[in-house]
Amino acid sequence: MSDIDGMGTERATCWLAPNPSAMTLDGTNTWVIGEPGAEEVVVIDPGPKDGVHLRRVVDAITAQGRRVGQVLLTHGHPDHSAGAKKFAELAAAAASGGAGGAGGAGGRGGSGVPVRALDPRHRLGDEGLAEGDVIITGGLELRVMETPGHSNDSLTFWLPADRAVLTGDTVLGYGTTVLEGRLGDYLSSLDRLRRFSEDVEAATILPGHGPKLDDPIGALDHYITHRRERLAQVEAAVEAGARTAKEVVARVYADVDKSLWPAAEWSVQSQLDYLNERS
Ligand SMILES: [Zn+2]
Repeated sequence: MSDIDGMGTERATCWLAPNPSAMTLDGTNTWVIGEPGAEEVVVIDPGPKDGVHLRRVVDAITAQGRRVGQVLLTHGHPDHSAGAKKFAELAAAAASGGAGGAGGAGGRGGSGVPVRALDPRHRLGDEGLAEGDVIITGGLELRVMETPGHSNDSLTFWLPADRAVLTGDTVLGYGTTVLEGRLGDYLSSLDRLRRFSEDVEAATILPGHGPKLDDPIGALDHYITHRRERLAQVEAAVEAGARTAKEVVARVYADVDKSLWPAAEWSVQSQLDYLNERS
């Protein structure tokens, strides 16, 4: 299957979901994160509602004698979130089954495993996620940053113990991300992640799709440069007479596979909005 399945750091391991496509690259990266020896782990982005994938991850955690303390979502897109509730149920069942009738094995609020996200529609339980939150599970610390742009609810998680940045779809292992949110927000998010990665000397980016990136600053510089170049191309297309996002895509993305054009339209619309706001 590629080196993506099983990649990671000392504390984070990727479980690749079997949903490859032009948009999801090799598939969605589900991240299981735990302190060595700790019983409780955190799972980021269970992925699509694929029973085989969800069970594979839960079974592996259970086989290690561990259980899921909480599920976190980088954002609400279905390739990351659609399986979250089912995953939480499976994880809660595995924890109570494995606990041999200990009762209330899931910790908070009975046997439930919470799903936490910025957008309340994607949560299970009362707890959300927001800028500055610090999550501590089984001795593991994760910090939450709001990084809108790919979507309005996009989050990035910082795993200080491994100096790893979990970017969801804000930065991918290769290619570039589609923008559903505002380009101005996205550029700010990239600048912020670049500054942050420099300040904390981040060692690796663990993305929502594709391989990990062991040169975070280089990867972010590449993303920032790409965005500026695309923006200049969009600006040129508008000057040359393109009026709608569709017309801009036909000019700027002429060399890109047509199956990606509808998604590119979202990105172009963000860029047109950005140029309009700026003028
Ligand atoms: Zn995705």
